[in-house]
Amino acid sequence: MDLFSFREEEWFDHPIEWLAPFRVRQLFHWFHHRGIWDYSEMDNIPLSLRKRLSEEFPVESVHINRWISSREDETKKILFQLPDNNIVEGVLLSYRHGLSFCISTQVGCAMGCRFCASTLGGKVRNISRSEMLQMFYLAQREFGKKITHLVLMGSGEPLDNLEEVKGFLDILTHPKGQDMSWRNVTISTSGLVDGIEQLILWGHPLTLAVSLHSARQEIRSELMPIAKKWNIQSVAEAAFRYQAISGRRVSFEVSLIEGVNDTKEDLQMLIQLLQGKGAHVNLISLNPTQELGLVSSSSKRLQHFKKSLEAVGIHATIRREMGRDIQGACGQLRNSVLEENTRRNDGKSISRR
Ligand code: SF4
Repeated sequence: MDLFSFREEEWFDHPIEWLAPFRVRQLFHWFHHRGIWDYSEMDNIPLSLRKRLSEEFPVESVHINRWISSREDETKKILFQLPDNNIVEGVLLSYRHGLSFCISTQVGCAMGCRFCASTLGGKVRNISRSEMLQMFYLAQREFGKKITHLVLMGSGEPLDNLEEVKGFLDILTHPKGQDMSWRNVTISTSGLVDGIEQLILWGHPLTLAVSLHSARQEIRSELMPIAKKWNIQSVAEAAFRYQAISGRRVSFEVSLIEGVNDTKEDLQMLIQLLQGKGAHVNLISLNPTQELGLVSSSSKRLQHFKKSLEAVGIHATIRREMGRDIQGACGQLRNSVLEENTRRNDGKSISRR
C-alpha cells in the first residue's frame, strides 16, 4: 500500500489497526500540508512508530536530477528522477499573479503531435499520483515559495492518465493539504473527447485548455494524429459543453507554424469555429525543436491573427515566451539529457523503455 497517495477517505477504506485516527491525521498533514514523506522527519510521531511505518509502508522517492535557472527571467526548469530512474520535466514560471508549476503527467507521450519533442520516443508509462505530488512538493520546497497555479501541460496527455490525475488533484486541493483552488488548475488536452466528458462528470471548476492548432481538419490531422479519432467538430462541441456546464471559459491553444497553419484560410476557419462561443484563443510561438524541422510563424503573423480574432469578438492572447534559454518547450530538455546519458553510458540510457 502506498499511504502517501491515499485521499483522506482512502485511509479509512484501508484501516491499519495499529494506526490511531489522530496518527492518520498527523500523517496526512506531514505528507500533504508540509510536503514531507520521509518518516524520520516527523518529530511528533514516536520513533518506534516511524520505524514501523518506514518498514511496512516505505514511500518511493522522486528526486530532483537537475534544477536550471533561466538567465532571461525567473523561469526554472526541473528534471525529476522517478523511482525507476525515468526522467520527466517540470517548469516553474513566476508571474505577477503568483507562481505557476507546469507538470508532466506521463513519461513520454503516445499522442504523436508533430511539433512536440515529448512524443519522439513514444509513451513510456503513466506518472502516478504519488510521483506528481512529490514533484509538486519538491518544486515548491526548492523554490521556497508557495505554488499558486498548476498547469497540466508538460509531457503526456493528462486525460490519458485521468485516474491518477484525479487522485493527484483531489489531494492537492484538499483543505488539509495544499488547499489549492480548483480555479487555479488548468488541464490541457490534445482533444480526447471521452476524457472531456469525464471532466464534465467530475464537476470541478478547472480551466480546460484544448490544443487545437488548426481549425482545418486535414491540417489538424496532419499535426495531431489523435484528430483522426476525434474530429474538430466533436472536440469543439465537447469543449463548449464543458464551458457551459463548468462556467469556465475554455482556452484553445494554437501554435502557429510557418506555412503550415498560419494562412488566411486557417484564420477564417478558426473564426468560423469559435466566433460567438465565448472561448479564448492562446496563440503560441512554436519553440524551435531541432529534431522536428518546423519553424514558428513570425511575431507579425501572430499579431495579425490576434488582431483579426479580436476584431470579430474572439478574446485572444499571445503567450509570453519564457525560459527559451533553458529549452522551455515540452520534452526538449528531457530528450537532450537522455541523449547525453546514452552517449555517456555508451548506448545504455537510464530511461527504462
Ligand atoms: S503536445 Fe502534449 S499531447 Fe501532443 S505529443 Fe506533446 S505531450 Fe503529447
